[in-house]
Amino acid sequence: MNKAVEQDGPGGIASDLLQNTVNVDEYLAQNRYSVDEENAHIELVANPDPAEFAKLVRVCPAGLYRQDADGNLSFDYAGCLECGSCRIVCGDTIIAKWSNPGPTMGVEYRYG
Ligand code: SF4
Repeated sequence: MNKAVEQDGPGGIASDLLQNTVNVDEYLAQNRYSVDEENAHIELVANPDPAEFAKLVRVCPAGLYRQDADGNLSFDYAGCLECGSCRIVCGDTIIAKWSNPGPTMGVEYRYG
C-alpha cells in the first residue's frame, strides 16, 4: 500500500485522491465564493501587453485569464482562488492592483 494512504488512513483525503481519478474542475466546483461586486481585488492595466497576458492564461489555476480565437482578452476575478500566481508572474507588468478580498469575501475552500 502507498505510504501516503497508510498515513492518512482508509477514507482519508489522501486515500481518496490516490485511489480515484482526480477531476480538478469537480474539486474547484465545491468551493464557495463571496464575490465583492463593488471592489475588485484584482485589476489589470487598461491595455495589457498580450505577451504578459498570455503568461497568465497559462498560469492561473482557475482559468480566469482568457483569450478567444479572435485574440480578445478577458479577465474575471469572481472565481479567484487567491493563490497569488498572477501577482508573482506579472505583478510588475499588467496587474494594476492585487489585494486580498475584504472580510467574509473571496473563496471558501471545501474538501469534500
Ligand atoms: S490569484 Fe491565482 S486564481 Fe486568482 S486570478 Fe491570480 S492566478 Fe488566478
